[in-house]
Order: sequence, then C-alpha cells, then structure tokens
Amino acid sequence: MGSARKFGGGRLVIASHNPGKCREIAALLAPWDAEIVSAAALGLAEPEETGATFAANAALKAREASKASGLPALADDSGLAVTALDGAPGIYSARWGGAEKDFDAAMARVNCELGEAADRTARFVCALSLCWPDGHAETVEGLVEGALVWPPRGTQGFGYDPIFVARGHTETFGEMDPDAKHAISHRADAFRKLVAVCFAA
Ligand code: IMP
Repeated sequence: MGSARKFGGGRLVIASHNPGKCREIAALLAPWDAEIVSAAALGLAEPEETGATFAANAALKAREASKASGLPALADDSGLAVTALDGAPGIYSARWGGAEKDFDAAMARVNCELGEAADRTARFVCALSLCWPDGHAETVEGLVEGALVWPPRGTQGFGYDPIFVARGHTETFGEMDPDAKHAISHRADAFRKLVAVCFAA
C-alpha cells in the first residue's frame, strides 16, 4: 500500500537553526538509525518561509537543506491556529512575537483580536517534512486541539503555551510538566505520523 519512502539510515540533517528544536528532534529520533547533523553545523543558510501553509514551509526548508547538503533533511514548521481568527496567527505565529520574540505581546494581541468572541477554540499545528536530495519529500501534519484562556498561566514551555489548554485538560501548556505536554503535543502527534511513514518497518 502507498509509495512512502523509508529513511535508510545514516546521516540526517535537521533543517533548523534552533538548538532547542534540534535537541528535541534528536531525542525523538534516538531509537532510529540516524546520525543527526544540524543545519547550523553545516553552515547552511536559513531559507525565507514563503509557503502559504505549515506543510509548504516545512517542505521548503527540508528541500533547501537537502539540496545544499546532499543528504536527507528533516524540517518542521509549527504554530497556533485560532478558530475565531480564521486560523491566525497560523504560519505567522513566530512573526507575531516580533524581532524581539516577545510572546507576552503576541499573546496579548491574540486575546485582543479575540475580544468577546464566544468561540475560544484553537489548535497547535506541526508539519514535519523529510526530503531527499532528488527532491522526494514525505510531509505529515500533527495537531492538538484546545481552547484559549486569559490571563496567561504558567512559566513552562515557550511561545503561546501559557494561554493554551488542551482539550480534556485543565492546566495550560505553560503550567504542565514538560513531559506531559510532549506526550500530547502537536509535535509528538506529527512525529508519531512521520515514524509510521518513514521510519518504522
Ligand atoms: P517556527 O519555528 O517558524 O515553526 O515557529 C513556530 C512558532 O509557533 C513559535 O515561535 C511559537 O510562537 C509557536 N509555537 C509552535 N509550537 C509551539 C508550542 O508547542 N508552544 C507554544 N508555541 C508554539
């Protein structure tokens, strides 16, 4: 069934210049036969994220890194999509933090734009793309559904975590133990899907 390409082992470039992301991805890939190399270590440039979707941006980052290195490359693109804001900030989630990466301001903007909207639902989305030097790519998307609260609560995590409560939970991602968040997060969901497509036998 299907024609998904499996990762055959050996060197794998993580197409991110964020050391935290690289560490998290390396840990998730630990059970698989991959020798992780970061894009930063190879001196690869960071492409402009010109795609219209998370999946398009993940794929373009993976494709550029794979072409430049001659190795398979894995990239992720993620963000918060608020239902009443037609999916904003979405692919612009990082940019709403501005050059100073001020997510207190970004969360305040989300809350302000939501106003009195009755629908407080939102989801975190994570696209992962694994691309080979011949241009072939396998791209998956993971998500976690939830709702937004105000004011922000908790100091764990990053980005929009303090205003997001996953469905079926009461603590925000900012209050949750990081392991508990990682077990249900959009990134974990995307990884499970990627492993099923490209890593598991
Ligand atoms: P990227 O690095 O371009 O994919 O940007 C992702 C942005 O989405 C981050 O800067 C955060 O603002 C937001 N984001 C993604 N995942 C999470 C998460 O797990 N918690 C909180 N914010 C997140």
